[in-house]
Amino acid sequence: MAKFLEYQGKEYFKKAGIPVPEGEVAGSPDEAVAAAKRIGKPVVVKAQVLAGGRGKAGGVKLASTPEEAGKAASEILGMKIKGLTVKQVLVEEQLPIKQEFYAGLIINSAQEVRGPVLMFSPEGGMDIESVPADKIATLNVDVIKGVMLHDTLDMCVSMGVDGAVLRPMATVILKLYNAFRKNDCRALEINPLVLTEDGNVYAADCRMEVDDQAVFRHPEFGIKIGREFLKEPTELDLMGWSYEASDFRGTSYIAEMASPEETAAGGYVGYHGIGGGAAMLGMDALNKVGLKVADYADTSGNPTASKVYRTVKLIMSQPNIEGYFLAGFMMANQEQWHHAHGLVKALREELPKRPGFPVVLLLCGNKEKESQEILKKGLAEFKDRVEIYDREHVYDAKFIGGRVKALVEKYRKTKAAA
Ligand code: GDP
Ligand code: MN
Repeated sequence: MAKFLEYQGKEYFKKAGIPVPEGEVAGSPDEAVAAAKRIGKPVVVKAQVLAGGRGKAGGVKLASTPEEAGKAASEILGMKIKGLTVKQVLVEEQLPIKQEFYAGLIINSAQEVRGPVLMFSPEGGMDIESVPADKIATLNVDVIKGVMLHDTLDMCVSMGVDGAVLRPMATVILKLYNAFRKNDCRALEINPLVLTEDGNVYAADCRMEVDDQAVFRHPEFGIKIGREFLKEPTELDLMGWSYEASDFRGTSYIAEMASPEETAAGGYVGYHGIGGGAAMLGMDALNKVGLKVADYADTSGNPTASKVYRTVKLIMSQPNIEGYFLAGFMMANQEQWHHAHGLVKALREELPKRPGFPVVLLLCGNKEKESQEILKKGLAEFKDRVEIYDREHVYDAKFIGGRVKALVEKYRKTKAAA
């Protein structure tokens, strides 16, 4: 899922008409001081990382003056929360909190729901999982009918909200649903939804996660890769993603694992797995013989030959790799001949450019016999450095890893001699 930082999500709250405290994001203590000055009121300084529980971890601090805000920022910036380094803080006007509520939506994929579930609770601030069920009002939303103001009013009333706050509270929850739909979210949460001493309702926090499949509909998000991708994408990553973005048939996942500077030291192989589990097995086998993967690639879900071809070409474009390894450690039910065709076309283009460059291919499963024939015929002229294996070795990671190592060593020798 494409996740948003609190301050980014709050921009979408603003657009949806959900009140948020006045605030600015800051990347240094000086910027935090300046932001606090502009806000001109006591502030709260909040770590911006893609993790909850920042309050408990010391990532949320109150500050009465701009100097205090600077000090809080210097303490929070660089901090690690759930393994993530804090690079930015949100400096926000402090709210005089009377009560903390919770409002949120998630997609429940269970057979009997299969749609958004709206939740509201008067026990906000804490983890919603630890709130007793009778303190949470839930509504399984029929997306055709949508949510009406009377629905959210009912939810508020059922949780004991009344008086002047009832209508503003119910209105915010309704707007939250509208924002959830408009932005194609899988999760959108306000925790805490704050009622202030002076009777106003504010979203004091925001957790926003958008459906990867819908990212293409939202160029305004500026998301470069429409799938969970927890690092800044490299050029290789972006090229790999472009195959997904332009062709939905089957999956091709590719991520750079080592930079060209790292691979220059040697010991790296262009890596191509089929299916997540099989790919893990293959990486283990490589690591056991002292080799590393330059990239992580996975072509599965019955990709087309053209998608496999593009992936192989991209893997082969990496500088410094000392071999190519297709780790098909599974009896895949996808038609493997698409893999065979894509591999043959790409390797016939690439191998003549790299004398002696070794290749180990393990490909098993549906249409295996035909696939093996395609590979063996298509790559016959490179027989001295291309080894092709079938189901006979599907459980034999140690043997296959050993073959990769042997061929890589032979390749090093021929290169050294040349
Ligand atoms: P989380 O712990 O990562 O979910 O971060 P939150 O943004 O939810 O903040 C945690 C807690 O800090 C909230 O539940 C509040 O109790 C407190 N907090 C956040 N903003 C304010 C504020 O403006 N004023 C006050 N008094 N407390 C705040
Ligand atoms: Mn929170």
